[in-house]
Amino acid sequence: MSGNIFYKSVAELEKMLDAGEISSEELTKEYISRTRSVDGKVQAQLSNYEDSALAAARASDARRAHGEKRGALDGIPVGLKDVLAVRGQKLTCASKMLENYVSPYTGTAMSKLEKAGAVFWGRLNLDEFAMGSSCENSAFKKTRNPWDLTRAPGGSSGGSAAAVAAGECACALGSDTGGSIRQPASFCGVVGVKPTYGLVSRFGLAAFASSLDQIGPFARTVEDAAILLGAIAGWDAKDSTSVKVDVPDYRASLSEGSLKGKVVGVPKEYFIEGIDQQVRAAVESGIDLCAKLGAEIRQISLPHTDLALPVYYIIATAEASSNLARYDGMRYTHRSARATDSTDLYFKSRAEGFGEEVKRRIILGSYVLSSGYYDAYYLRAQQVRTLIRADFGKAFEDVDVIVTPTSPTTAFKIGERASDPLSMYLSDIFTINVNLAGLPGLSVPCGFSSEGLPIGLQMIGRPFDEANLLSYAHAFERAAGICDRHPESSLL
Ligand code: GLN
Repeated sequence: MSGNIFYKSVAELEKMLDAGEISSEELTKEYISRTRSVDGKVQAQLSNYEDSALAAARASDARRAHGEKRGALDGIPVGLKDVLAVRGQKLTCASKMLENYVSPYTGTAMSKLEKAGAVFWGRLNLDEFAMGSSCENSAFKKTRNPWDLTRAPGGSSGGSAAAVAAGECACALGSDTGGSIRQPASFCGVVGVKPTYGLVSRFGLAAFASSLDQIGPFARTVEDAAILLGAIAGWDAKDSTSVKVDVPDYRASLSEGSLKGKVVGVPKEYFIEGIDQQVRAAVESGIDLCAKLGAEIRQISLPHTDLALPVYYIIATAEASSNLARYDGMRYTHRSARATDSTDLYFKSRAEGFGEEVKRRIILGSYVLSSGYYDAYYLRAQQVRTLIRADFGKAFEDVDVIVTPTSPTTAFKIGERASDPLSMYLSDIFTINVNLAGLPGLSVPCGFSSEGLPIGLQMIGRPFDEANLLSYAHAFERAAGICDRHPESSLL
């Protein structure tokens, strides 16, 4: 099974392309036919652009033939969450509101990928406007977990995680506001990285909660994630929150770092009641593995952890209510055919265009920002956010990396939580803190449950310390040795 080309890592594919064992055009065709054979079951893609993918692949082949290869991603098929703008391609955000919207420009991260020679293959499903943890909030389809098609792939970037896990693309980009890269990566048994806030430009990412959103990679291995992150990171004049920092060669620094002599912090607040016993056991063995690799394990406390969920749902909804005001039925969005006047047009277009969860958040966000409640909710949430950030700052005085479960459970059944928003919100209890603090976090596979479902371990690093964070995860992944397992049996 591991001989299947569509399960190879970017690093392996790069070697094959360099050696002329396969061309990018042939590789792209492999992913196209793989997608045709499994996506009917997985339902990860919302749309794709076969002609432009093949044209990009042929251009890459021509470059290689002339010794003009642009880097590891040259000729590699990459999937994109359908919140990421590429000129001439649909950008639906899995919403009826943008069902027919075609982006007139390419966002910065995607244009960097284009310049690196990547081939875009597949626009991938998500919870509408990235709001959710299961992909069930998509207006178009429910993506399925490739390891068990009755289960959710996680969310909101569930399409990206499922597409990589099912071998529909070599790697993918998603976005993470409160866990939307790490939680689906954990559910689908792949690597997912949420970069430090400000490392990757948000220009061309449809905004959900601007102070939390980051674009980041999904990949089969930590090395592939390092390659992808290196290609998209860096300061951008088009995003005022992007930060001017040097972007090191993450891939090259993988071999330099190790867990030997590092202090791994284990926050006691993350091993709570309600966490699935198999998840706890797998993460605890993961922590033991860190110790075997020479790390010192230290219990730490992040005392404001339990406030993160309410703080997140105040700040994220407040920002969402403002960001989504632009979808007004007047300009590029769905426009109601039943409106009687311009005010009615706003109401009806938004009522028809947005799904339940998006409406719930707009209402909640407008409420916490309204006069009389602003101080009691929004301002207070911002103050607590500062305390949450300070908890991490203090912890990082003593530890090099923090290790936790990525999610309290393995992939849940489709439908199981859909009618109970609060239980859905709890899926992100271990990831949202990292966004509130603006830190880098990743999920790396650390084991499987007795039902054969993947379990992810989260590593959290210091701001802009992705090079070290990735090198710890790389050391862990090599020692754990589980990235060769694939979900083939459920896809046949
Ligand atoms: N599941 C969380 C939410 O629904 C996080 C989503 C995300 O990171 N985009 O808000």
